[in-house]
Amino acid sequence: MPELPEVETSRRGIEPWLVNQSVVDVIVRNPRLRWPIPSDLPMQLVGEVVRTVSRRGKYLLIEFEHGTLLIHLGMSGNLRIVPANTELKPHDHLDLVMESSRCLRLNDPRRFGAVLWTENDPGQHPLLVSLGPEPLDNPQFNPEYLYELCQRRRCSIKQLLMDNQVVVGVGNIYACEALFESGVYPGRSSSKITKSEATLIVKSIKSVLARAIEQGGTTLKDFNAPDGKPGYFAQELLVYGRADQPCYQCGNEVSTVRLGQRNTYFCSKCQV
Ligand SMILES: [Zn+2]
Repeated sequence: MPELPEVETSRRGIEPWLVNQSVVDVIVRNPRLRWPIPSDLPMQLVGEVVRTVSRRGKYLLIEFEHGTLLIHLGMSGNLRIVPANTELKPHDHLDLVMESSRCLRLNDPRRFGAVLWTENDPGQHPLLVSLGPEPLDNPQFNPEYLYELCQRRRCSIKQLLMDNQVVVGVGNIYACEALFESGVYPGRSSSKITKSEATLIVKSIKSVLARAIEQGGTTLKDFNAPDGKPGYFAQELLVYGRADQPCYQCGNEVSTVRLGQRNTYFCSKCQV
């Protein structure tokens, strides 16, 4: 599943091809995503110029003068920039053809992604309005904030970190990685997290995500960087997906457990 680093990598990949370009055609081949692609999308977008391409959580926001296109990649979506006449692959559901004759092409085999249009403030959209702070560039995501939430909740620290209302963009992979870096067992009750551990966790989340973005996202599944180069962060994951392999820190075997129905990886010696 594309996580925040993949979405941010996609944003950076597509931005230079879209900003200040007008849309000359919108081709919807299959509108049946998680929610239907609005049938008036071609009417809304043709002839309009893209102003900015930003990101909120795992949503990409393509802003026009009169509204914003929200794109979510779901479980298996990916975006590419290709010449508009590029041969179609299965599951190529949507093309935004730009004046440069390149197009933004959405491919999504499992169709859990979404393409939605709003003419209002996108931050107030029902899907975005209750999202927690951005982990990387919102100062609200700080140790005091996390510590206070930890005290109030009754769940594991890993589940708390994966809650989009607490902080956005920390999916299963990066929750495992950040907790390993912090030395905190993922199943620990959030109310038992100390202030200094909250500090470590915040720091680790930021560094794990920043590193992944820098390296172009993981290649775990279905991800093609928009410029065609695959990402390569997968080899550098410290615990995620490494069950029974030696911990890079202590040599102990990496363990796995189901937490909140998700496979969770940790080192039982390094994480308490
Ligand atoms: Zn270890």
